[in-house]
Parts: sequence; structure tokens; C-alpha cells
Amino acid sequence: MKALVYHGPGKKSWDEVPDPTIVDPTDIIVKVDTTTICGTDLHILKGDVPAVTEGRILGHEGVGTVTEVGDAVSTVAVGDRVIISCISACGACSYCHQGLYAHCLAEEGAEGIGWIFGHLIDGTQAEYVRVPFADNSVYKVPEGVSDEAAVMLSDILPTGFEIGVRYGHVEPGDVVAVIGAGPVGLAAIMTAGLYGAARIIAIDLDENRIAKAKDFGATDGVNSGDADWVEQVMGMTDGLGVDTAIEAVGIPATFDACTKIVRPGGNIANVGVHGKPVELRLNELWISDIAITMGLVSTSTTPMLLKLVAQHKLPAEKFATHRFTFDQVMDAYDTFSKAAETKALKVVISG
Ligand code: NAD
Ligand code: ZN
Repeated sequence: MKALVYHGPGKKSWDEVPDPTIVDPTDIIVKVDTTTICGTDLHILKGDVPAVTEGRILGHEGVGTVTEVGDAVSTVAVGDRVIISCISACGACSYCHQGLYAHCLAEEGAEGIGWIFGHLIDGTQAEYVRVPFADNSVYKVPEGVSDEAAVMLSDILPTGFEIGVRYGHVEPGDVVAVIGAGPVGLAAIMTAGLYGAARIIAIDLDENRIAKAKDFGATDGVNSGDADWVEQVMGMTDGLGVDTAIEAVGIPATFDACTKIVRPGGNIANVGVHGKPVELRLNELWISDIAITMGLVSTSTTPMLLKLVAQHKLPAEKFATHRFTFDQVMDAYDTFSKAAETKALKVVISG
């Protein structure tokens, strides 16, 4: 089969590789019909994720058709169309029992991290993929849900919802600010409405992304390049700040920006993956009763989000801006990595 193989920092190619086979009885093999690229894949290609070794097939998002099933798998059968979750979960360990699949203890060599595709085992940017712990790690796609919509449930929609909206304790009537209107921030914007946010402010440096955010449910947009951006945000609240500030970039400046606009008693939900330590002005913040949360997505809300997608209550397909075939995967990376120029959100790659 063909697959997108990582060959060390800055190097990748669409190579001929051996087909995956069933290793454990809980595995399945899936023919990947649709996959996509995540910002994390770009981090890996920069060499920022040293656990990813040369020869690894990248990708942790995908929708496909089951072609082989291990002896111990009971809930999926050959021919089923499934969403491959970015998190693999055994379903039996203490973290899985809490629904904290992100920290599944069963993945060999993963030290309690459920994200293994395109990281510690071969991923989904391939014609076929081996999926471990299949009973708890794939979701059947209902009739009427397109691949383009379903693939957004592998990672971005549950991430924005679980780590942004839910950890951020969004409640009816709240004012929510989302800093960073990339795919993950837009997923938080799209799902903040589910918990009744009254006002959703998209904050970015890129005017195109701010405009996009309004299509995804943002009521307001603020360019944080403006000198008075904090005042602009305050003017959209009662002057005290937002109830929840969601960080969806992953740099110190945007975490700090959240601390400037959150109201006393409010929440900062950090979604961004940080590569550097971040200064926390606890000496100033402690008196404001701020709750700060962070986390790796568990994808425990995927079944619920999938129901909303199936009922056309969540237009997941909106994230797809560019389409490629598997043999154009290098062009897909090129388009995705130049998002400011190409206006790409999610590039959809199909077989
Ligand atoms: P992205 O790079 O596509 O989008 C980031 C957005 O932030 C862009 O629109 C960019 O213009 C904007 N931005 C950059 N610098 C800014 C600044 N100083 N002020 C305001 N806006 C700024 O990223 P994405 O794919 O949407 O992912 C967002 C973050 O979420 C990343 O850090 C990613 O690694 C992380 N992530 C976390 C999890 C998790 O489980 N916690 C899962 C997936 C992704
Ligand atoms: Zn587990």
C-alpha cells in the first residue's frame, strides 16, 4: 500500500510500504476512505515531537471501511464504515472507566497517553491502517453522514468541545472568547452554542479567520493586533470580562491574553499545545478566583457529537475547504501548511 511516511525533521514522502496486519485479537484493519492533516502533523514535521521516529506513517484522523477483524472484536464487522478516533482506548483500565480515554493505560510504550496514531504507531494517512482496541476506538458512521463531516469527529470537534467548552464550564447566557480561530478554535466556537453561550467572540490576528469564525457561530470578532483589543472585548461584556476564555493557539502570548480578558470568577480553558513554558502571573490572578483548565482530548463526546451531525444540528462538513486524492497528499500538506495564503481550514484527502 501507499502511505505518508515521516523521514525525520522536514522530510516526508508518499511511499510504498507493507500492508498492516492484525497483531492483537482486539485489532481491526481499516481501508482509509478519507483522512486529513492536523496542525500537530506540522509540529511533528518540524521535529517538535521527538517520540515520532523515522519511518512512522503520520495521521490520526480518518474515516474508512473495515476490511479485517481480530478474534476478540465484537462490535464492528467487515464492511462497517467507521470514524477512527485520534485516541485509542482499551475500555478496561481505570482511566477508561472514568471516560478519560486520553490517559488509557493499556497502550504499550505510551505511558498513559491514548494518542498513539501517527505518533507511536502507524497512522491514518495511508491506504490501510491497523486500529488497536477497535471496540472502544472507532465509531460507526450513520447513514447520511458524509466522510467529510465524519472525519471532523476524529479530533477537532471533540477537542474544541471537551477541552474548550466543557472544561471552560460554558453556561447559558455566558460570554465566551476564543483566542485562535483555526480549526480547533472554530470547533470550540461551533460547539459553544450547544451550552447556550449568549455571545461568542472570535479573537485572531488573521482577518480572514475572524470572518470565517462568524460562519461558525461567532457573534463578534476582534483582531488582537489592535492596540485596544482588550478594551474592545471588555466593551462586549459588562466591562468585567468574559465568563470563559478559550486558548486555541498554544503560545505564551495567547495564554497571557486570556488572563487579560477573563472576569473574576471566570474560566480559562487552555486547548493549545504548548512547546515552551508559560509564565503564570499568579500574584495578580489569585485574587480573581480564576479557574484554569487544560487537557488532551478524550473523544468521549464523539458519539454525542455524531448524533448532532447526523441530525444536521452541527454542520461539521463546513471545515473542509480543500480536497485532494491520496496521490496528491504532498500538495495537500503544502496547501495546509500555507493556510494564511490558501485560506485552508481542513484539507480532505480521499482514496
Ligand atoms: P492553527 O495553527 O490552524 O490555528 C491557530 C490560529 O491562531 C490561527 O488562526 C492563527 O492565525 C491564530 N493565531 C496565531 N497566533 C496568534 C496570536 N498571537 N493571537 C491571536 N491569534 C493567533 O491551529 P489548530 O489546528 O486550530 O489548533 C490549535 C491548537 O490546538 C494547537 O496548539 C493544537 O496543537 C492544539 N490541539 C490541542 C488538542 C488537545 O487535545 N488539547 C488537540 C488538537 C489540537
Ligand atoms: Zn484504557
